[in-house]
Amino acid sequence: MKGIVTKSTGSWYIVRGVDGEIYNCRIKGKFRIKGIKSTNPIAVGDKVEFDSDTDSYVIHKLEPRENYIVRKSINLSKQTHIIAANIDQAFLFVTLKLPETSTEFIDRFLVSAEAYHIPVKLIFNKIDIYDEEELKFLRFIQSIYKKIGYDCYEVSAEKQINLEIIKGLLKDKITMLSGHSGVGKSTLINQLDPELDLRTLAISEANKSGMHTTTFAEMHPLIFGGDIIDTPGIKGFGVVDLESGELSHYFPEMMKVLPDCKFSNCIHINEPGCAVKAAVDSGEISPTRYSSYLSITEDEKGENYRAKGY
Ligand code: GDP
Ligand code: ZN
Repeated sequence: MKGIVTKSTGSWYIVRGVDGEIYNCRIKGKFRIKGIKSTNPIAVGDKVEFDSDTDSYVIHKLEPRENYIVRKSINLSKQTHIIAANIDQAFLFVTLKLPETSTEFIDRFLVSAEAYHIPVKLIFNKIDIYDEEELKFLRFIQSIYKKIGYDCYEVSAEKQINLEIIKGLLKDKITMLSGHSGVGKSTLINQLDPELDLRTLAISEANKSGMHTTTFAEMHPLIFGGDIIDTPGIKGFGVVDLESGELSHYFPEMMKVLPDCKFSNCIHINEPGCAVKAAVDSGEISPTRYSSYLSITEDEKGENYRAKGY
């Protein structure tokens, strides 16, 4: 039978069969995916085939992944942990206050999502809390992202503004929910599906495992069709091993102009004849985006130094 993994607890996998029933499965044999060294062979969102065994069910086949996101392991073994697979889209919840989401946080998320081929929609929640001045600023921020091609939505989970639109976007898709804690992810989902309360789920899981935060993903079906992937405890996801010069490929607006850079190996920092810097100077590329680019470049350098043992 075929199904989709909705939760993994290490040795057990919860699989939702195509018949809609839930099966407790184990794995048999090896599931090595070329090119990935991961601590877990199968993750939430994986499409699998399974059979009944003596006292349970056994996964014997993993279908190729359309995409997947990983978290680098904390030890330096270079192993990665697959957080989730086959994600149709990610919603990044943004609030400019309570809590503040920085443009750099947004940009780092977008870079990772571009690298993993996951379309992102920016959900500006809590629009009820802003005064006139703040709303102006909010719309200015949105204009930066709309111009690049990212869809932006203004909503209020609490005041139920524009929630039908969000419901339409979620329907029949697998959506990953992201954003700082407190931006209103649980509240919004709970408004659309009153039976689904991510906050209580997260707390009960934390109690079960005796930890304060949970660091695994779980897929929850929505009553109106579709699933959400909640990743409590995981703020963003890391980009793995960018090659030098590759970062700009994940900034769509830079990608458009960089063929005009004088040097083909331009990294858009100090080179003469750089089309990206020219676009920043002319206002075509947002200075906040460029500043995030520089900041991520610095981090990448740091990683390289560490890897080389400096
Ligand atoms: P999560 O950590 O992203 O799941 O955030 P929560 O859903 O727990 O929300 C955090 C707090 O923000 C709660 O006190 C919510 O009541 C509040 N909140 C959520 N959405 C809105 C909104 O649209 N407007 C206002 N004013 N408060 C909201
Ligand atoms: Zn350049």
